Amino acid sequence: MEETGLRGNLAGVKHILLVLSGKGGVGKSTVSTELALALWHTGKKVGILDVDLCGPSIPRMLKAQGKAVHQCDSGWVPVFVDQDKGISLMSIGFLLEKPDDAVVWRGPKKNALIKQFISDVAWGELDFLIVDTPPGTSDEHISTVESLRPYKPLGAVLVTTPQVVSVGDVRRELTFCKKMGLRVIGIVENMSGFVCPHCSECTNIFSKGGGEELAKHAGVPFLGYVPLDPHLTQSLEEGKDFIQEFPKSSAFPALA
Ligand code: ADP
Repeated sequence: MEETGLRGNLAGVKHILLVLSGKGGVGKSTVSTELALALWHTGKKVGILDVDLCGPSIPRMLKAQGKAVHQCDSGWVPVFVDQDKGISLMSIGFLLEKPDDAVVWRGPKKNALIKQFISDVAWGELDFLIVDTPPGTSDEHISTVESLRPYKPLGAVLVTTPQVVSVGDVRRELTFCKKMGLRVIGIVENMSGFVCPHCSECTNIFSKGGGEELAKHAGVPFLGYVPLDPHLTQSLEEGKDFIQEFPKSSAFPALA
């Protein structure tokens, strides 16, 4: 008999990566989206689980808003982002009546949905499942990790901006990873400088290097600097494939 439930639905998933940040607005969903696209461009099969229940932005970033989730024998069929893209996505955004509806739920209801997302989505065969989490280290993170951890080793990609306040929060994320037994894949420093759309020169409008320094100090890999790039903002607003459309951008090397 075919195995269903948590083990069954995750049986075909090779690697699970959690994308974490201490604060909102630092580019966690951006990194999740571009990471998925970059892996897909190298021929990998990728799924994204958006557990940022109060701010589900991935459907918009991948131009999948308004698509419907269907049921199959083993649970929910994730949304296929694009017919020719091997990226599947599950988000609360697909379950809301209107995409801009607010999710005003207490912790237990959020945790129940996260558990359902983890056990009931029929991912099929995936090289990578990327989990976009809410900011911080809340109940939702504990539910996500506790539900996934018994079945697969989990990796974590941490996103920070260069400022000291954001870096300080990532330090707390590192402690969370250690306590929860997550392997830290590395730290991404986002919004690290601004790329002028006219002359393409990069100016450090905030400080630079906080993420890299923290990585060195914590003994974890530093994955790269992603500058603020208006082409990236535009691609995310319009659901375009930034990596394909702007290979000359200075944000390209770190993201691709
Ligand atoms: P979070 O998931 O951490 O809340 P988002 O990924 O939603 O943050 O990013 C917040 C906003 O900043 C989004 O509108 C996104 O398009 C924009 N953004 C993030 N990183 C960059 C960047 N490197 N260059 C330009 N815009 C960016």
